[in-house]
Amino acid sequence: MTTLLPYPQRIQRKRERGWRAPPNVVSVCRPGRFGNPWRVKFDPTCLMWEVRSPTGGVIGMFESRADAHKTAVEQFAVNLPAAELAAARELLAGRNIMCWCPAPPPGIPDREWCHSGWLLDNVPLLRLRCEAA
Ligand SMILES: [Zn+2]
Repeated sequence: MTTLLPYPQRIQRKRERGWRAPPNVVSVCRPGRFGNPWRVKFDPTCLMWEVRSPTGGVIGMFESRADAHKTAVEQFAVNLPAAELAAARELLAGRNIMCWCPAPPPGIPDREWCHSGWLLDNVPLLRLRCEAA
């Protein structure tokens, strides 16, 4: 007999004192292997959200934080080597995955907000439930 476990989810990593990651979690935060090297940052001088490439250059400025996040996730997706996609399938399947991003605002899908949401929706098998014997 097998027991079905919950579907893998994205967990928001927190800095709160006493907070601990739940079991069966893999971190996809920077600077780890599956961290998103495309960064979103608020620029207080012009009140815009910027997206920076892995080498630090600004590739876009956005009034909307959601648009900046979407661009960073798109860059992650189009620049993810096929071998890394395969590795993600192998290493992340059946696990919850953890990132610093807060939950997206209402109406914004997580796959357009955080690269870990994208991973959950786009890496084959990641949404499969793991079965405990
Ligand atoms: Zn994230």
